[in-house]
Amino acid sequence: MTTMNNTDNSGDVRLSGISKTYGSFTAVQPLDLTVPQGSFFALLGASGCGKTTTLRMIAGLEEPSSGTVFLGDQEVTHLPPYKRPVNTVFQSYALFPHLDIFENVAFGLRRRGIKSVKKQVEDMLDLVQLGEQARKKPHQLSGGQQQRVAVARALINHPKVLLLDEPLGALDLKLRRQMQLELKRIQTEVGITFVHVTHDQEEAMTMADTVAVMNAGRVEQLGSPADLYENPNTTFVANFLGTSNLIEAEVDSKGGDEIVLRAGGGKLTLPTARCSAATTTGGKVLVGVRPEKISLTHADDAGEIPAGRNRITGKIADSSFIGVSTQYVIDSAVCPEFEVYAQNIDRDSRLTPGADVVLHWNPAHTFGLDAAQDIDAGVETVEEEAA
Ligand code: ATP
Repeated sequence: MTTMNNTDNSGDVRLSGISKTYGSFTAVQPLDLTVPQGSFFALLGASGCGKTTTLRMIAGLEEPSSGTVFLGDQEVTHLPPYKRPVNTVFQSYALFPHLDIFENVAFGLRRRGIKSVKKQVEDMLDLVQLGEQARKKPHQLSGGQQQRVAVARALINHPKVLLLDEPLGALDLKLRRQMQLELKRIQTEVGITFVHVTHDQEEAMTMADTVAVMNAGRVEQLGSPADLYENPNTTFVANFLGTSNLIEAEVDSKGGDEIVLRAGGGKLTLPTARCSAATTTGGKVLVGVRPEKISLTHADDAGEIPAGRNRITGKIADSSFIGVSTQYVIDSAVCPEFEVYAQNIDRDSRLTPGADVVLHWNPAHTFGLDAAQDIDAGVETVEEEAA
C-alpha cells in the first residue's frame, strides 16, 4: 500500500449534527466533527459516554437519529456498512479458527472474486510483521499477533478509513504498549485515516494525533494530546487526562498578561492566555497545575526559592517512591490532597511525611477553569476504570 498524497480528501470523515437516541435516552448529543484524511484520531471517554455508538454510526452499523455522515465527498448516512469505504477492527478479533493466517487475511479478496492474492497477502503480512506465521492457525498465535492479523485482514480491502473499537482491550498491559507503537507504525506506513475508540487515556495520547474527549454523549474538548494535557478547558478533561491539582481562588486583580488570584491567604499568578474569559465570571476561578510541574522545597530553605514563582505552603502527608519519581501528597490550606511528582535526582532526605514544605512552580504552568464546574468531574470515572 502506498501513502496517500496530501490533496486526497477521500479519507476525510465528516459528521454533521449526528446524534443517537434510544427511546428517551440520548447516547450521542448532536455532534459536529471532522477527521482529516490520514490522521490518527481517538475518541476517548469512560464506559457509556457514547464513543462506540459514534464509531458505529461512521461504520453504518447504527443509524443516526439525526445528522449526516460524509466520507470524503460522499454522503454515506444511509448506506449499509458493506457499501462504505471503511473497515472495522473489534476487540474480539473474530478470526476464522479453521483457516490459517494467510487465508484469514486473503478472505476479503477471495470473497470479491480476486484469484491472485499471493502478493497482496504477503505484502500485508509483511506490513504487520507476520510473514513467518502465514501457515499457522489463529490459536497458535499470541493475542497481539492475532490482533495484527485482524488489522491486516481489514486493511487488505484498501478501506479509506479504518475504525478500531477498543482493539487492544483484551491484551495485557505489556502487549498493549507494544501494539500501540505497532499500530502507530502501521498507520504511518499506510497513511489512511484511523478512528480509534478507547477508554484508556494513555493509549489515546500515545497513538493519536488528535483526541476527542467524550463525556455523557458530548465532545468536551478536541485537540492534540499535548494541548489537551497542558490546556484543559474543563474540570472533566483536567481530571480524566492525567492528574490535576485544582484550587478554588478569587480574582484579586487583572493586568495585561496576567491575573492575580487569592487562595488560602496567599497569591497566585495565572497567565491571562491560559484562562478563558468566561472563567472569571463572579470573581472566582479554579486554578490548575499538573503534579510534575511543581517543585518541593523544605520550609527551612524557603528563602532560596526564586522570586516570581507561584507558591503554597503545606505539610507532606504521604510519599511513595516509585523508581523514576517520588509521588508526594501534600496537605495544604488550599487543597487537602495536593499531588507532586518529583524526579529522583538529588533527593532531599528531609522530605518525608510530616515535613513542612513550600510547593512552587512557574506561573506559566498554571491554567484557569470556570469555577461553576464540579471540581471533581472525571475523578470518579478514572477511579472506576482503574478498579
Ligand atoms: P463502552 O466503552 O462501555 O462500550 P461507550 O462509550 O462506547 O462505552 P456506547 O456503547 O456508545 O458507550 O453507549 C452509550 C450509551 O448508550 C450507553 O449508556 C449505552 O447503555 C446506551 N446504548 C448503547 N446501545 C444501546 C441500545 N441498542 N439500546 C439502548 N441503549 C443503548
